[in-house]
Amino acid sequence: MLDMAIIGSGVAGLTAGLYGARAGLETVIFEQLLPGGQAATIMHLENYPGFVNGVDGVSIMNDMMEQATNAGAGLRYDGIQGLQPGAAGQPHLLLGPEGPIEARSIIIATGANPRKLGLPREEELTGRGVCYCASCDGALFRNKVVAVNGGGDTALTDALVLANYAKEVLLIHRREEFRGSPLLQKRVRENEKIKLFLSRTVQELRGENRLEQLLLKKTDGSTELIESDALFVAVGIQPNTEAFRGILELDEMGCIRTQRDLSTNIPGIYAAGDCRDTLLRQVVTGAADGALAATMAAAYLLSQGK
Ligand code: NAP
Repeated sequence: MLDMAIIGSGVAGLTAGLYGARAGLETVIFEQLLPGGQAATIMHLENYPGFVNGVDGVSIMNDMMEQATNAGAGLRYDGIQGLQPGAAGQPHLLLGPEGPIEARSIIIATGANPRKLGLPREEELTGRGVCYCASCDGALFRNKVVAVNGGGDTALTDALVLANYAKEVLLIHRREEFRGSPLLQKRVRENEKIKLFLSRTVQELRGENRLEQLLLKKTDGSTELIESDALFVAVGIQPNTEAFRGILELDEMGCIRTQRDLSTNIPGIYAAGDCRDTLLRQVVTGAADGALAATMAAAYLLSQGK
């Protein structure tokens, strides 16, 4: 039986694994695909303390994984499909592909994925001009015209990343004010390659076999057709929590509701990182969440006599 089962191997999961193993607990991190989570897609991470010149996402995530496994955490490539809470004082069950796995405590760190616009043809044109990760796909559009949709930190960062490759970046946002940080806004406004299309939403994706044009709708109801080789969608995130619906309390966005100690509504089950109801989703907060959840889970186990 595991002392601590961690679902997800992004920043929060790997940090929880490091702390769980260092607390002397039998700790295993479960991952269904590749370790590293969303942070591994960041081309240049500039705001993680201690890296004066920034660091690339893949390097820092590889290091976090090595640090967690060196400390004694196991890493298992099993997609967890759900969980079954145990009765008071009894272990919980993780539902894995090869049957249930018993764990005295669980930390859910399943992260979040980019939200889709929900437009007709969005699925069909994904990979044919419609993209969700600028640092992954930006280099494909060297010297092309690309659009970004959104007004948060992701959209602003994407526009700046894409300006390194593209001929022109069209930043489309549904309001006049951006939600993203003032520093990123300043950089965007000062970048000559970035053209702002404010108070507009994307209505239609047009093109033969790949994206060629976007039909925009302005707030006064009028429309505008623009040429673009790509659309990078950056309109927020969708937490990966469906497997826990009906078991754990979720908020209206689908994020797991947590208390100050990152506990959920079920004793012994904690949530950390982007999948929970947090106000900031960054590498630094994912790491802090992982550390707190594992420390609180260890305290819970101690209170249970472990
Ligand atoms: P976000 O902050 O939720 O912003 C989403 C943006 O998309 C908002 O501007 C929103 O417009 C717009 N939007 C939402 N639904 C839309 C729709 N259907 N059509 C058009 N526009 C729509 O999401 P995010 O930018 O992905 O950031 C998520 C979290 O990650 C944040 O906590 C952020 O700080 C963090 N993050 C940090 C960094 C960094 O530190 N470098 C980088 C990336 C992300 P409104 O503003 O009008 O609501």
